[in-house]
Amino acid sequence: MKIIVIGAGVGGTSAAIALQRLGHEVVVYDRMRENKPVGAALSLWSNGVKVLNWLGLGDQVAALGGAMDDMAYLDGHTGETLCRFSLAPVTEQTGQKPYPVARADLQRLLMESFGTEKIHLGRRLVSVADDGEQVTATFADGSTDTADLLVGADGARSVVRDHVTGAHEGGERIERTYSGYTNFNGLVAADTAVGPKNQWTTYVAEGKRAAVMPVADGRFYFWFDVPQPAGLPYDASDGAAPLHESFGHWAPGVRTLLGAIDPDRSLNRVEIWDIDPFHTWVRGRVAILGDAAHNTAPDIGQGACLALEDSFALAISLATNTVSVEDSLRRYEHSRTGRAADLVERARARGAETHGEDPERTAAWYASLRGTDGSAIIRGIVGNITGSPVNLGAGPL
Ligand SMILES: Cc1cc2nc3c(=O)[nH]c(=O)nc-3n(C[C@H](O)[C@H](O)[C@H](O)COP(=O)(O)OP(=O)(O)OC[C@H]3O[C@@H](n4cnc5c(N)ncnc54)[C@H](O)[C@@H]3O)c2cc1C
Repeated sequence: MKIIVIGAGVGGTSAAIALQRLGHEVVVYDRMRENKPVGAALSLWSNGVKVLNWLGLGDQVAALGGAMDDMAYLDGHTGETLCRFSLAPVTEQTGQKPYPVARADLQRLLMESFGTEKIHLGRRLVSVADDGEQVTATFADGSTDTADLLVGADGARSVVRDHVTGAHEGGERIERTYSGYTNFNGLVAADTAVGPKNQWTTYVAEGKRAAVMPVADGRFYFWFDVPQPAGLPYDASDGAAPLHESFGHWAPGVRTLLGAIDPDRSLNRVEIWDIDPFHTWVRGRVAILGDAAHNTAPDIGQGACLALEDSFALAISLATNTVSVEDSLRRYEHSRTGRAADLVERARARGAETHGEDPERTAAWYASLRGTDGSAIIRGIVGNITGSPVNLGAGPL
């Protein structure tokens, strides 16, 4: 079967690899002109890594992954350690070590594994037409392509989603919801003055967070969360100024991190939005996956992992059901929307708790961190992972 994938992010490229491995002829289109992932890095939790293992990329991903052995929370003002514990139970209970990875590294690996010559950049999809036998994609430059199936992995502002939900015919358009904070992220050289090089270190205070995670080649992935209204003016020449304003009075470790940021080399600013869970992901011979289907706030680090799960589930459904393409897509949808909705809601709840939406609740969270052995936090992380289809329903051991 010929399959068109729209979008060459984690969702689109992982789906393309999976479907190509099933023997389909797959072609990918993306509107970006060059491969430039938005954002510096991400945490691949065990469920995401397992899909990459299934795609045959286990060794390569392990080589890109940072050694994230421990986790610690520190008081943002004083730098006092509130708690510190091993993340080994996550690996023991799920069967796979999680890895933070630089996005550019992961993106390059996925694109090259699929075959860059089959990824057509600079092609912006504008419409989709499905005549029941074939699907035709039309691009902004007037060109078209036709296939037996079209997968929309075109991100949070998906055009394919409008086709699937009927918004393109005047139906209600699915809108995003602001999560109440802005995230700044980037890469710096790892520095023990900020936190141990094998530790996920998070400083918390005032409903804000400053965190580092290790990625390959001696680097820290850093991020800062700043609760603030949407739409505040910012341009690249502002650099890290808003961070110095928000965190300049924080603990020495945070000030060291601020001093290490080179805005010209690695600093991204992104307002965080998500989408209310919705359950229409397929229509005829067209399906959506990844952020197009479940734009999730990053508070549990599961958006890309869910996209990888989608690719797994879509491929399994197409490989095992033989009634029709439409039937396989409905089964894919049925297997995924509840799981994704659950994690979107979990991320929202976690974001509200950590970002001071209710200051008393956030204060109670800070208090709960002091002296904890981390077992409740590990339970939460493992709880996000165990519902994945890659776990074959087995749950934690
Ligand atoms: C600050 C932040 C931190 C995060 N941290 C984590 C984390 O730690 N762990 C995790 O698992 N997830 C994390 N996420 C979520 C993760 O980044 C996303 O869920 C994931 O990248 C979604 O991948 P995708 O392929 O679905 O979409 P995208 O990566 O958005 O890719 C969509 C692609 O489609 C293309 N496209 C869009 N429209 C068109 C069109 N009309 N025609 C052609 N091409 C089009 C775009 O150019 C883009 O390349 C984080 C997100 C943010 C914002």
